[in-house]
Amino acid sequence: MIDKKIENIIIIGGGIGGLFTGALLAKEGFSVTILEKNAIIGGGLQSFQRFGISFDTGMHILGGFKNDGSIFKICNYLNILQKIKLQDIDPECMDQITFLSDNRTFRIPEGKDHFIAYFQNEFPEEKENIFNYVNKLFQLSDEVPLFSLKTSNTNELAHDEWFFKPADELICHYIKDKKLQEVLAYMNPMCGGIAGHTPSYIFALINTLYIKGQSRFVGSTIQLANALANVITENNGRVLHNEAVVNVIIEDKEISKVITSQGNEYSADLFISAIHPSSFLQLTENKLFTKAYRNRINDAKNTYSSFIVFIKFKPNSFKYINHPCYLQKDYSKSWKHGEYDEHNWPHGFIYLTPCVENQGEYASSMEILAMMPFSSCEKWKNTSVENRGKEYKNWKKKHIHKILDIMNAVYPDFENHIEGIFSSSPLTIRDFYNVPEGALYGIAKDSQDLHSGFISIHTKATNLLQTGQNVYLHGCCGVPLTAINTAEVIVGKDIIVNKINKAFENIASKE
Ligand SMILES: Cc1cc2nc3c(=O)[nH]c(=O)nc-3n(C[C@H](O)[C@H](O)[C@H](O)COP(=O)(O)OP(=O)(O)OC[C@H]3O[C@@H](n4cnc5c(N)ncnc54)[C@H](O)[C@@H]3O)c2cc1C
Repeated sequence: MIDKKIENIIIIGGGIGGLFTGALLAKEGFSVTILEKNAIIGGGLQSFQRFGISFDTGMHILGGFKNDGSIFKICNYLNILQKIKLQDIDPECMDQITFLSDNRTFRIPEGKDHFIAYFQNEFPEEKENIFNYVNKLFQLSDEVPLFSLKTSNTNELAHDEWFFKPADELICHYIKDKKLQEVLAYMNPMCGGIAGHTPSYIFALINTLYIKGQSRFVGSTIQLANALANVITENNGRVLHNEAVVNVIIEDKEISKVITSQGNEYSADLFISAIHPSSFLQLTENKLFTKAYRNRINDAKNTYSSFIVFIKFKPNSFKYINHPCYLQKDYSKSWKHGEYDEHNWPHGFIYLTPCVENQGEYASSMEILAMMPFSSCEKWKNTSVENRGKEYKNWKKKHIHKILDIMNAVYPDFENHIEGIFSSSPLTIRDFYNVPEGALYGIAKDSQDLHSGFISIHTKATNLLQTGQNVYLHGCCGVPLTAINTAEVIVGKDIIVNKINKAFENIASKE
């Protein structure tokens, strides 16, 4: 806990991390100012218009909103549930995964028991192994108390032997069938899973989160960003856009002010960085952040990125699908989404039809996310948006066609449904979020090097904290939990978690 008197707080970055941290602190009575570089707040919650419809930049699949999910409880506490419109994903098929090599499709139902029963039915010879494996996933995620908004005793740090070990090894330990081993890793694009590196606890947190039930926004994702911004402004705070922090001035181990691209200067009692730690370090050359620390942060492995195809469908043409669809070419690449070779890419992808207001039988759009490492477009790394040149445009076109070829095989005539199409690359993600290598989920947690993936909330500057996906866990559920951790460094341990749980008990007792 910080022992200095704090009234004003400046947060650098208006993504989900900055906004949730800001909203929690504004509710505690602090005067919060968010400085966001883009014209629209939200980061991964931002949406944009093209061909007259709205497309989302990041947040497509939401875990933790259903039933007694953590993000549901946090939004309830912030009193914003009524300001966001959500739709449940089809509980009978929360995820669909198709393998092209044997043309087999798995339609996986929601809920732990249904998930187990479904796979036991598909792979009867693995009945007991599946039961033990899924229970192990839930046991591992229970070892992270904050994940289910439980207060923790810091003495209880002993973890299961599998907690930090690679998740691919965990699967192989429990499951003998080679195909099933690959199928059970289908959610890897949602956690940046890499063989030998992704710790089992990260894999378990993401898998159990989605197994418990998924939701999606009705309309665009920006509604959550706006609702959070309102909490801040209604509590005397400010959410400023087009204010990229370009310089952080440090004096006597404290940040004295930050300067933005507009030339504005902002001072506060406390600063919170809600951007990638490496991007933050570029804002100051102060020696407080030593060369060794800079090297550690700048050399830390980032998660892989994605090529994204955005499609507007012709009216009443392609049927709406109320769940994410995963697709893989064969049963050998579940752990290889981060690898790229021009001839075989993509190994697979996720495609989704976002839900619009008054969603009918037909989808208005589709987004297809095909994982891709930054190295695939590194040769244009010194270019900026709209100025990457003709060769890059052709490269993108070629990659759109690689994806369309597969979609045409799955849905005959797929291309005939399309009214408009465009794409983004790892470079787009890098420049839009200011995230090195366009990493989808920031710095990777790595079983082989746990220290490199550990990002502390505290920093060498006495009045600077960190928040956001790099600190604890990425995604719609992970980042708000990090926000609680960061805010509690200021207000006191367990204070906010207890308030969130109390607010939920109150609504639960009324129902
Ligand atoms: C393509 C894609 C798809 C995804 N899909 C899902 C999904 O379906 N479900 C899910 O749960 N998660 C998903 N994620 C992950 C999720 O979006 C992120 O974990 C989350 O948005 C991270 O939040 P954050 O606030 O830490 O960072 P960000 O959202 O990156 O926010 C950082 C903010 O800081 C701003 N900023 C950067 N530098 C500066 C500066 N110098 N000054 C001022 N502002 C600055 C950026 O513009 C940005 O708004 C996806 C991510 C991507 C990229």
